[in-house]
Amino acid sequence: MKLAAIGRFDIAVKLIHRGLRLSIVSHVTGIHIKTLRPLHREILGYRPPSGQLPSTSGILSTRSAQAMASVMAALYQSAGGDGIYRQIDMEALLAAHDLYLELSKSVILRVSSDKPLDITQAWIIARDIQTGAVYSKCCSHCRIRYLCAVACRLPPSCPICALRKRDM
Ligand SMILES: [Zn+2]
Repeated sequence: MKLAAIGRFDIAVKLIHRGLRLSIVSHVTGIHIKTLRPLHREILGYRPPSGQLPSTSGILSTRSAQAMASVMAALYQSAGGDGIYRQIDMEALLAAHDLYLELSKSVILRVSSDKPLDITQAWIIARDIQTGAVYSKCCSHCRIRYLCAVACRLPPSCPICALRKRDM
């Protein structure tokens, strides 16, 4: 096996450990999914889940989910810079997701009943930021940057302001 191939397998093992869906691991590493399936079973001890990948409209289905996705996107944008609009920056995404999980444990989960975004959902957001299917806007009232999806049933307005109004 060539060194570059070993490097690809190294990344695949790391991503499988993180719980990234195999179709995405295959896309990122260029390793065929048929090769990855037994690897997944060996690493995690169970069959990889199949079925459709989550969609951003599903991820952004409630105001609190939109607020949490906005935190994840902001961390990713600050880790990856403008390069994330040209291609998905996997290293920045993993670093941002680590930080996001730490934050969710200590802060976000106290104000939200949603489960924190997993690495697959974080990757979907990163992909859709790159394609423009999701975009961030700045709230003129509370000044935070928040995430909106082109195809989403929520109105494209600030989740924090919407949650505040709801709680009043
Ligand atoms: Zn606002």
